Amino acid sequence: MSSRATLVWLRQDLRVGDNPALRAALDRGASVIPVYVWSAEEEQPWSPGAASRWWLDRSLHALDEQLRRRESRLTIAVGSAEHALLEIARQTGADAVFWNRRYEPTIVERDKQLKTAVQAAGLEARSFNGALLFEPWEVRTGDDKPYRVFTPFWRRCLSRAEPDKPLPAPRELPAPERWPSTLEIDDLGLLPRIDWAEGLRHQWSPGEVGARRQLERFVGRALRSYDDDRNRPDLDGSSRLSPFLHFGELSPRQVWHAVRNLANRTRSRRLRQSAEAYLRQIGWREFAHHLLYHFPHTPEAPLREEFSAFPWRRDQRALRAWQRGRTGYPLVDAGMRELWTTGWMHNRVRMVVASFLVKDLLIDWQRGAAWFWDTLVDADLANNTLGWQWTAGCGADAALFFSVFNPVAQSHKFDPDAKYIARWLPELSRLPAKLRHEPWKATASQLCGAGLSLGSDYPRPVTDHGEARRRALDALESTKR
Ligand SMILES: Cc1cc2nc3c(=O)[nH]c(=O)nc-3n(C[C@H](O)[C@H](O)[C@H](O)COP(=O)(O)OP(=O)(O)OC[C@H]3O[C@@H](n4cnc5c(N)ncnc54)[C@H](O)[C@@H]3O)c2cc1C
Repeated sequence: MSSRATLVWLRQDLRVGDNPALRAALDRGASVIPVYVWSAEEEQPWSPGAASRWWLDRSLHALDEQLRRRESRLTIAVGSAEHALLEIARQTGADAVFWNRRYEPTIVERDKQLKTAVQAAGLEARSFNGALLFEPWEVRTGDDKPYRVFTPFWRRCLSRAEPDKPLPAPRELPAPERWPSTLEIDDLGLLPRIDWAEGLRHQWSPGEVGARRQLERFVGRALRSYDDDRNRPDLDGSSRLSPFLHFGELSPRQVWHAVRNLANRTRSRRLRQSAEAYLRQIGWREFAHHLLYHFPHTPEAPLREEFSAFPWRRDQRALRAWQRGRTGYPLVDAGMRELWTTGWMHNRVRMVVASFLVKDLLIDWQRGAAWFWDTLVDADLANNTLGWQWTAGCGADAALFFSVFNPVAQSHKFDPDAKYIARWLPELSRLPAKLRHEPWKATASQLCGAGLSLGSDYPRPVTDHGEARRRALDALESTKR
């Protein structure tokens, strides 16, 4: 026991392994008090949505368990982070506060002010990089500007020194002379009042142990064929690490080195290619944070300003059909139902449903981003903003607006046997595979044979894709005029 203490303020770094703030606190030689402050008000307008809250509740419990194994525990507070941390410091005599950085604009501002206040109170305040491979300000173009295009950004990242090896998890954390008063995790009220989370419980094991298991499973199996399978929602071809990375139950350095170690040891060209393709996706995560940091207005406004005047439609019924997975386009609906049930959706399908909302229905990308924010367990301001602006064609590195995804062609290409559709739309599962992509083409006897009544069991298409595409292109032309 030591009379000095360091508060380690945990946020989106809910792990004990490879945690630079925790390691620095240990190196300081004082006792360590891990703290979580639920400050939803300070995170507005992007305080965690319902699915994220569910995940956070499970993750805090998992973290507390990890800490208790190390003779420590999680102190929980609610409200203003500055007030809570200074109060805990007052109660315990702590003389330092350490944390890992976040990059969302309101959080950056809050943290700056908090640092000043903590220092003004005579405490040491230090922040660390625990969330990214490269800090957003470290990677600059030749003209000393932030990047707006991914490929040169990632090339530049790869030309830098390899990220440091992950820090080992401490075996024990020195306890303070007295623990501060704390709330219980359950007092935060993060779980839904009406229990809709069964699908989430079934699918996920939040926390550091679940994260490591998922990483090992992926690296040991699916990584091998990642480059071939990652676009296939019917296969278990991607890592499903996004919520673990978002909440920092796993660090990108841990992922990087696990993948690189395997790639360095193998003779298989396919595995090496897959490893590169996979790290490139981690690169997109880095790029998304780079953009959010340098263009902090982008969650609320398009990066490409000409899109500010885009003539979006207000169509509550169409929006609701999209949200509920009842557009009549099976791949879109399967994705939206996967999202609703599990809090996650395959990346290819995210692109298809986003394109459908923005281009076929002409509904503002921000409405879609808000729905994702509430329903995704991996809702992440940087990645979500990039994903929506990229698909809408109004962001960095954007696919051109006039390249409109055809939801039926995408379905044939990436779900060739319509197994993904059958899994999420059981009402279509008795149709022959080919017709599951476009059930409106089924004859009366085929529908009857499948026990399906179009228009009641499953909707007819809310819009005709060909016409919708032309309408989207006209709308684009109008913004140019
Ligand atoms: C409209 C739209 C919205 C999105 N919203 C989010 C979001 O809120 N949170 C989120 O984490 N991802 C988001 N993505 C990116 C991507 O769809 C998910 O990261 C991916 O599907 C997660 O599955 P995975 O872990 O199996 O990915 P893998 O293919 O295994 O990739 C590994 C990791 O790389 C990162 N990554 C992969 N693709 C991207 C990408 N395009 N952009 C940024 N990072 C990426 C993720 O951290 C992911 O876990 C969005 C994409 C789109 C098109």
